[in-house]
Amino acid sequence: MSDELLRAWEKKSGERQKLYKNYLHRADKNTVLKALPDLNVEAFEKIDCLQCGNCCKGYSPRFKKPDIKRIAKHLKMKDGDLINNYLRVDEEGDYVMRAAPCSFLGEDNYCTIYDVRPSDCERFPYTEEDFLLKRQPMALKNSTFCPITYYIIEKLMAAAKGA
Ligand code: SF4
Ligand code: SF4
Repeated sequence: MSDELLRAWEKKSGERQKLYKNYLHRADKNTVLKALPDLNVEAFEKIDCLQCGNCCKGYSPRFKKPDIKRIAKHLKMKDGDLINNYLRVDEEGDYVMRAAPCSFLGEDNYCTIYDVRPSDCERFPYTEEDFLLKRQPMALKNSTFCPITYYIIEKLMAAAKGA
């Protein structure tokens, strides 16, 4: 993370939440969707998820039925045993990981079930979709712990300023 923008990014993100909120609220959807593919490539080049792991350490994905089936099969266990051993039901009625960090997080931040990981994990941080605009409170929260989300919002804001 050598980029100046990424220096002390957590502090900056914390301080700039209000600006992000205002920006996302008025951002032009087409402009954002057009910019996201390149910005994602740029962000993933600059930020190595294996050096971070914040999502897997502090936040659980939802384990939907197909996820549970796929992971249980991979681990050669019954769906019910996967649930009993690892999961709990959250306030929204979804199965989530009981432990934090995630029990499937391996050494060096590798996911030990990477090929069969929940679809939420596959899609996180959702920056390739219209999530940033559609789920603004969650996108804002993600920007406080996910440097990729932070980076992309900062870059979108800078571009909008220069437009
Ligand atoms: S299943 Fe893998 S990718 Fe998903 S939170 Fe756990 S360790 Fe991270
Ligand atoms: S929090 Fe963001 S940058 Fe960190 S590992 Fe997760 S997706 Fe990658």
